Amino acid sequence: MLSIIIPSYNEEKNIEKTFAVVTEVLEANGIDFEIIFINDGSSDSTWQKISDLAHENDNVTSVDFSRNFGKESAIFAGLEIASGDACVLMDCDLQHPPETIIEMYNIWKNNDVDIVEGRKKSRGKESKLYKCFSMLFYRILNKSSGLDMDSASDFKLLDRKVVDALNKMPERLTFFRAMSSWVGFRTEKIYFEVAERQEGKSKWSARSLFRYAINSITSFTSAPLHLVTVFGIISFIISVVLGIDTLYNKIWGNSEAGFPTVIILQLLTTSIIMFSLGIIGYYISKIYEEIKNRPRYIITKIVKKDKEEQ
Ligand code: UDP
Ligand code: MG
Repeated sequence: MLSIIIPSYNEEKNIEKTFAVVTEVLEANGIDFEIIFINDGSSDSTWQKISDLAHENDNVTSVDFSRNFGKESAIFAGLEIASGDACVLMDCDLQHPPETIIEMYNIWKNNDVDIVEGRKKSRGKESKLYKCFSMLFYRILNKSSGLDMDSASDFKLLDRKVVDALNKMPERLTFFRAMSSWVGFRTEKIYFEVAERQEGKSKWSARSLFRYAINSITSFTSAPLHLVTVFGIISFIISVVLGIDTLYNKIWGNSEAGFPTVIILQLLTTSIIMFSLGIIGYYISKIYEEIKNRPRYIITKIVKKDKEEQ
């Protein structure tokens, strides 16, 4: 069975349509499925709509959050509740084409693949500034986490094994896109064209996107902490050069009395403080890695002589 997880936040106009289209496409292909709608603290009639659907259909589960916890939380709630052999995450606005679910399903069914990852063929309509920021964001993430995150999306099919592995990750601040590549497993990519949003407008404001970016970076890499060490090294090099220059002036030139001492003291203390902060930052990054309490490894499969365990 396939579980379709759909986070919904103020999507009253999309719920019914999304439900109808997804149901139609999956039934036409004879796939057994359930749909899990998560109402992420909407202020419109989204909850009304999805709870009605759940009353009318055996294969619909609707979940209600007490307030808006964000898409990430909705995704992880869905993964925890889903009971399918595979889960598909999709948006409520039909920007993720339901036909792609069928392709994902077939790839998963016919190959030894645990994750089918939807990648954006093109990034859809976006402003120049937004493109710039998203490029910077992905550059930082790719470089520091070693995961290829460009054109990644939350549109993914995950095998039960992957879902179980993700459910075991105890951290509170999550970044689904990166966590689902961090767990590894055999991954197949599939490209899809981002469709136009059906109804309503995007839930992301510049502010919420910025917060999401900062949160994602800090919850996935400790690179910003190491920057302090780099600054410390740079300022030390500068202080050595300037220090030599000041001493040279004091001995051979004509500098104000007392001035060289002030300059050298200032330079030295700054770089020592930077260094120390860098070292502390390094330990904090270790504490941070530890406190996430991630499993040290994830086993995909164990093969024994006469039985195979998944
Ligand atoms: N969403 C959510 N909680 C939020 C913001 C968004 O559950 O706080 C859901 C939203 O209902 C939609 C999906 O996340 O199903 C993607 O949101 P949106 O279409 O606004 O993002 P975009 O496509 O512009 O990136
Ligand atoms: Mg959208």
